[in-house]
Amino acid sequence: MKLRPLLAMTSGFLAALAVTTATAKPLSQEDLSVAEVLRDRALESSDAYSIVESLTVEVGPRPAGSEGDRRAVAWAQEKMKALGFDRVYTEQIEVPRWNRGHAHARVVSPFPQPLVVSSLGYSVGTPEEGLTAEIVEFADVSELIEAPADKVRGKIAFINKRMERTRTGEGYGPAVGGRSRGMRAAAEKEAVALMIRSVGTDSDRFAHTGMMSIDGVEEPVPALALSAPDANLLEAMLERGQPVVVNLDVHNQRLEDGPSFNVIGEITGREKPEEVMIIGAHLDSWDEGTGALDDGAGVAIVMETARMIAELPQRPRRTLRVILYGAEEIGLVGAKQYVEAHQDELDNIIAVSESDFGAGKIWRFDTRLPETKFDIADQMMQLLAPLGIERGNNQSSGGPDSSVFVARGVPAFGLYQDGTDYFDYHHTPNDTLDKVDPEILKQNVAAWVVMSFLASEMEGDLGRVPTEN
Ligand SMILES: [Zn+2]
Repeated sequence: MKLRPLLAMTSGFLAALAVTTATAKPLSQEDLSVAEVLRDRALESSDAYSIVESLTVEVGPRPAGSEGDRRAVAWAQEKMKALGFDRVYTEQIEVPRWNRGHAHARVVSPFPQPLVVSSLGYSVGTPEEGLTAEIVEFADVSELIEAPADKVRGKIAFINKRMERTRTGEGYGPAVGGRSRGMRAAAEKEAVALMIRSVGTDSDRFAHTGMMSIDGVEEPVPALALSAPDANLLEAMLERGQPVVVNLDVHNQRLEDGPSFNVIGEITGREKPEEVMIIGAHLDSWDEGTGALDDGAGVAIVMETARMIAELPQRPRRTLRVILYGAEEIGLVGAKQYVEAHQDELDNIIAVSESDFGAGKIWRFDTRLPETKFDIADQMMQLLAPLGIERGNNQSSGGPDSSVFVARGVPAFGLYQDGTDYFDYHHTPNDTLDKVDPEILKQNVAAWVVMSFLASEMEGDLGRVPTEN
């Protein structure tokens, strides 16, 4: 008597279960609806531009450990409080410090004329009276490393490697070795100095500075970047077959290590405050521009993203933590010290992501997730695709500072910007606010609120991603 209804009930239940299993998606319809509202609001009215405007006008250049850095740290805390973060604090880090002095270079013979150069980060100076030596040219850093020492000894090594322009910025990797490893190679072969063609894609008469590896180099030599037109000039002189002799007069100052800070702001989670989604950017910049693209825009994008999420009627389920890393430019110093100090808490970090590739339109969504979690990215894509974003790969580093977390198995998201002209301005005096388009920043924030809100709000977690070593 009771069997039939029970059977009917059971099969009804099984059918319902089957339907649920087939359609069960990790992100609920409700969460997606909130993310969609946030996205559209960001397109309409987000204002990351005023944040990067404020940083570049009121602080400007902010190399690690400098006076500008100290003002940036104060600025960031004040701004986060004004934007409605629940908790704002700093964590101190130790950074090597350096002051740029002057860098003059001129061809002495056969065709005397001045060259536009910039010291690479942490370069030593020349002797007070300068130095004069013949140029020896190399196609790239490998050619210098492989060259016999007597070809290099007593000369100025010139690495003349061009960087290719691409939307992804992948021309940077093959070109940057001259900057990062060239001075070490030149010093080991007893060159008197290193000059490189700037790592950049422009033809402006600005040189591109940037960090080089200095640890353990016993007798460092001055290291300079030439602007692209000046590298062309030197190249054309060398093609004429006569020795080209250059005079360098460089003054820089290495200072004692000192303090800098990671600046951290949080939107505290309503259910699982100890679990965190980390979004970040780096607060430091090189000294020559105002750091609008690198990385003022990123700072503004992640701060505005958190502000918009804080405006929702309720806090997301877990904590959204914005980290403005210190001393990224000189070797991810802030991120490394953060991960070291918080290694016991890494399992509570659901994922990381960083905005550090300028202010171009976001066109690709990369991830680093366990395969079992790909459907979460697919669901996020439903909301990102209308912004002109395509699904990319699962090899995201999450950005430079994020890569330190990723190396420990933390999942990552990467909202990839169009970097076609990024390396025209990167690390030059020309990295200024006029390169930032307020409308494009709105598209950026729209994508960031979708990813950041859903990762903070979703029910499940993202697991861990096995690391290679
Ligand atoms: Zn950067």
